[in-house]
Amino acid sequence: MPDLIHNLEAVQQRIALAAQVAGRDPRSITLLAVSKTFPAEDVRAAYTAGQRAFGENYVQESITKIEALADLRATLEWHFIGPLQSNKTRPVAENFDWVHSVDRLKIAQRLSEQRPDNLPPLNVCLQVNISGEASKSGASIPEAVEVAQAIAALPKLNLRGLMAIPEPAGSIEEQRAPHRQLRELFERLRNDGLELDTLSMGMSSDLEAAVLEGATIVRVGTAIFGTRDYSH
Ligand SMILES: *Cc1c(COP(=O)(O)O)cnc(C)c1O
Repeated sequence: MPDLIHNLEAVQQRIALAAQVAGRDPRSITLLAVSKTFPAEDVRAAYTAGQRAFGENYVQESITKIEALADLRATLEWHFIGPLQSNKTRPVAENFDWVHSVDRLKIAQRLSEQRPDNLPPLNVCLQVNISGEASKSGASIPEAVEVAQAIAALPKLNLRGLMAIPEPAGSIEEQRAPHRQLRELFERLRNDGLELDTLSMGMSSDLEAAVLEGATIVRVGTAIFGTRDYSH
């Protein structure tokens, strides 16, 4: 899969260049390869090229993929990034290393209750609905402070930070504005005493803006795997 390997390198270079412009160490930014709708073989090819963190959106699809790649499980990280209904939390709690899309306390409570005792705490991010968020899900900025404090107190979760999906925007300045809002909320929560280290923001079309505003995880699908086909 020469395209995939080339694409991965190109995305790494975009991250490195943006980090340089921002005066940041490129190693402080993790590339999460979003593999939703793509087959396990593509994940395996990216893994062979050195990629270690993968993002998935759909529970059933992801569990099938995780099982198909069980031989790599010890050295690969699975991140759930899609909308999560409360009746679908158990397989996520049992199979993933991270959940970026925790958007309310009830989901966090279920994940904590359902996280198996033999696994380390599940890393989670609170999804925040910053102005004009495309998906419309996520805690509002005013409610985020209280929800984050409550999630941080749950025993089987490790609250790592915040996640957002800003509306697509044209110029880099327009792209930076919502990412800056998320970073400001992140800093406020840290000043309030929460030990957060993760800002999950930036996708194929706006990862530079996100890195300039402090992203520590960028979630990139299309620029690595190509255009998604949802027809089957
Ligand atoms: C699909 C998806 C991505 C990747 O988007 P691309 O534009 O393909 O890079 C990132 N984050 C979330 C939450 C997604 O659902």
